[in-house]
Amino acid sequence: MNSILSDRIINMEESATLAMAKKARELKSQGIDIIGLSLGEPDFKTPKHIQEAAKDAIDEGKYFSYPPVAGYQDLREAIAKKLRDQNEIAQAKAENIVVSTGAKHSIANVFMCMINEGDEVVIFSPYWVSYAEIIKLAGGVPVLIEGTLENNFKATAAQLEEAITPKTKAVIYSSPCNPSGSVFSKEELEAISQVVLKHDNIMVIADEIYELINFVGRNYSIASFPGMFERTITVNGFSKGYAMTGWRVGYICAPLFIAKAVEKIQGQFTSGGTGIAQRAALAAISGDQKPSQEMADAYFKRRELVMGLLKEIPGIKTHVPEGAFYFFPDVSDFFGKSAKGHTISNADDLCLYLLEAANISLVTGAAFGAPTCVRLSYAASEEELKEALGRMKKALGELA
Ligand code: PMP
Ligand code: GLU
Repeated sequence: MNSILSDRIINMEESATLAMAKKARELKSQGIDIIGLSLGEPDFKTPKHIQEAAKDAIDEGKYFSYPPVAGYQDLREAIAKKLRDQNEIAQAKAENIVVSTGAKHSIANVFMCMINEGDEVVIFSPYWVSYAEIIKLAGGVPVLIEGTLENNFKATAAQLEEAITPKTKAVIYSSPCNPSGSVFSKEELEAISQVVLKHDNIMVIADEIYELINFVGRNYSIASFPGMFERTITVNGFSKGYAMTGWRVGYICAPLFIAKAVEKIQGQFTSGGTGIAQRAALAAISGDQKPSQEMADAYFKRRELVMGLLKEIPGIKTHVPEGAFYFFPDVSDFFGKSAKGHTISNADDLCLYLLEAANISLVTGAAFGAPTCVRLSYAASEEELKEALGRMKKALGELA
């Protein structure tokens, strides 16, 4: 009998971040004291005024029917205004915005609309786990350009130039970056835009979902650079900066032909995003920004704490992340060592060892295109971080 499942799903990797989080949750439910540092999810509650806006929306009783496919008009207008005022994307109008069920959904929409079989997409690596799988699902071929620990995991415009072929359709990066926390400077983005503008028919997908968690100043949007509005799909959402992962609201700002295409695919796949969640998102984007700033300040404090603790662990090599809430240390010094029946051949083995010997969950760098690294999310309390790093130091010290 032929397989009932499609090749498309058989060939797809499971999301490593979600898989590790699931494993940690299962162990926790068995009574094991796991400290989860695997999932990139704010540990803060959604700010109160956003919660209240959702309650008000329910009480108003106006948002229970199918919302417009591209999102409520007032939310699209508020997003466009934010992009004009704060990101200097002067051309952004409501018609360029499509609201979706999370930024992950936005990215899937975009690739489904753009990729033909065999089209290449250049990914700045290390990269967020889902990019490559979504590109492959759409029939595309991911082409990685790799940053290294020495250059803060930032692949360069020159590498991009070299990777471009007649089949290249798009380029994608996240800044601040998941998993490295690196932030592209204005100059680096200008250099990338110069390369893109030399080639017709290549689009940039700029994933700015961590823009509010940036410790080095303001976020630059490549769509604001000369000539780049028509060549850029800016992806953003509410999950990280407003601690709204479960509300599932993300969006794109794109040239009209892309926005229309995304609206069309969304009209066939999911319809408009959840009405009440969109009302909450409107309160988030147009209301008090202080809670987001306070969360960013807390992440900065935790970065300092974890940086200090990681430095005390022999064998760990790390750069200083400039945003998001991840460390991405190189752990290759531990390869070839053993303890407690575990032999560490790669980062996957090390994550498994740390899960069993130290009861902390991290994600292997292999899932992000950097097999000598592991990702540690510090979206956890200071107490948890101190305890987790202590356990990590002890378990790694036992490897010989
Ligand atoms: N892009 C990056 C870089 C992310 O880390 C995430 C985290 N989930 C997403 C997109 C998707 O975010 P969401 O679907 O929760 O809006
Ligand atoms: N983006 C987060 C992470 O990288 C959430 C999980 C996911 O959607 O991949 O952990």
